[in-house]
Amino acid sequence: MRAGTDRALPAAAGALLLVNAAHPLPDSAPPELAGTGPRWPEVKLERRAAGLLRACIRAVGGQDVIVPVSGWRSRAEQQAIWDETLKTEGEPFTRQYVARPGCSEHETGLAIDLGRAAETIDFIRPDFPAYGVWGAFRRRAAEFGFVLRYPAGKEAVTGIAHEPWHFRYVGIPHAAVMAERGLVLEEYLALLRRAHTRTPLQVRAGARCFQILFRPAWDASLPPPERGTYRQVSGDNCGGVVITTWK
Ligand SMILES: [Zn+2]
Repeated sequence: MRAGTDRALPAAAGALLLVNAAHPLPDSAPPELAGTGPRWPEVKLERRAAGLLRACIRAVGGQDVIVPVSGWRSRAEQQAIWDETLKTEGEPFTRQYVARPGCSEHETGLAIDLGRAAETIDFIRPDFPAYGVWGAFRRRAAEFGFVLRYPAGKEAVTGIAHEPWHFRYVGIPHAAVMAERGLVLEEYLALLRRAHTRTPLQVRAGARCFQILFRPAWDASLPPPERGTYRQVSGDNCGGVVITTWK
């Protein structure tokens, strides 16, 4: 993705950006986007996230019953959604369910709202059940790098009410750790910052073994990866970077 290479300044891009009311996203160029499925070409995500979302939906046989409702949004679109919701639903509802422009994960292209196929779908709060194909998607999302971003019980950490429809792409090894340990992105980044600046977090996900290291500040002198080793660098939108390597 945008900051997947070491040359790009990774602080403001990557799969692990934390975006919330306290950490707004700098207004920058959108990531490279792709459609989330042939039937919903207007709903787009960052290219890699879009491919993995399509793969996860296919893996659970959800092509006809899982609808990508809202993916990447420009700042102007987020502003329009905020204004419209404020007008029709009032301020308490809007504050609870719509992020302020600049503070929405949807502006990263890494967040997707999913709904159950139906004649009418609520755009702000789509129905995405815990059973059937939708439940299967929830159980397998981490295999494809996605996590439920605002789970019940973590409202005090995320600052957002439980949103059973909002999934976030973070990348496969990171989703594996978050799912296994029950961590939301805020907690996962805090863990890396606290315990893995020197000793990498070792993660087995699928057939691969990943090493995850946190640096409190971007260091352009990072030596090139060893031969045969892949590396991805992501900013955390809080000044730090997460370096993920695998063979
Ligand atoms: Zn959402």
